[in-house]
Amino acid sequence: MEFKKCLRCGSFFISDNDVCCNCQVRDRADISRLTNFIDENIGITSAEDLSIGTGIAINNINRFIANNSLPNIDLKL
Ligand SMILES: [Zn+2]
Repeated sequence: MEFKKCLRCGSFFISDNDVCCNCQVRDRADISRLTNFIDENIGITSAEDLSIGTGIAINNINRFIANNSLPNIDLKL
């Protein structure tokens, strides 16, 4: 366990995760929204399109891509 700064809200917390407990809930909601959006919009190829389509901040989308939380899509970063 490490003392970390949440990548999402900036608060300090102790965990093995990159985000605090509150933000884990938000991350999960965002990931399911993005997954649905990807399912329904074949041909999405950029994180920017995902951000525009879902209203989710691009830095969060890039973080989900970096830690492989999103389905395997061919994104041009
Ligand atoms: Zn947080």
